[in-house]
Amino acid sequence: MSIDVLTLFPGMFAGPLDESIIKRARKTGTLDLRIHNLRDYAHDRHKTVDDRPFGGGPGMLLKPEPLFEAIEDLASEGTRVLLLSPAGRQFSQAIARELAGERHLLLVSGHYEGFDERVRERLADDELSIGDYVLTNGALPAMVVIDAVTRLLPGVLGDEQSALEESFSQGLLEYPQYTRPADFRGMRVPDVLLNGNHAQIALWRDEQARLRTKKRRPDLL
Ligand code: SAM
Repeated sequence: MSIDVLTLFPGMFAGPLDESIIKRARKTGTLDLRIHNLRDYAHDRHKTVDDRPFGGGPGMLLKPEPLFEAIEDLASEGTRVLLLSPAGRQFSQAIARELAGERHLLLVSGHYEGFDERVRERLADDELSIGDYVLTNGALPAMVVIDAVTRLLPGVLGDEQSALEESFSQGLLEYPQYTRPADFRGMRVPDVLLNGNHAQIALWRDEQARLRTKKRRPDLL
């Protein structure tokens, strides 16, 4: 899959996407990630990308011209253009799975007060929010989307089963898990996990996942 990102802060992407599983996905070519600076599409002397909102009000808006030029340059037939915005659809594991089936994503990250509405109307296929709070810009939301989508691409996780059994994949939170030692400071691992009976373990895990979901996230049931 290829992902292009349009941002005013390319430097923010160095680090988080250069480690661990995402680093490996990039190295093997499973993820072809390119970060673009929106300012490269501004043509005046000051590389201006923002302007005051019509009608007044606080802050600045991202102007349409550099965004239109950049998106038209980076998108082609089949590209899914996604704006990061607090007003978007709430990002979820289901959306991550849907996006993992795409060939090319273009993530457009905002700043200031956000985008001129015409960018939304004319160029965006979808708008995604990572939660009900407001961040200073869309770089972190874009990285959240990239991470969640990339780990679902075939071959990225060492064990494909991981993505099938984790939280949200079956509409439930994940069951409790333990590793050695079986007794740590008097806290014992449940006996059922130690007896080697895989059918019993599967039943226990399913029951625990349901109990935990009912208690913490009844909205998922
Ligand atoms: N004025 C906008 C509003 O009230 O919805 C908020 C703009 S925010 C300060 C600047 C940019 O950060 C947004 O254009 C968006 O790209 C990004 N952003 C902030 N919070 C976000 C969130 N929860 N999900 C996705 N993107 C977000």
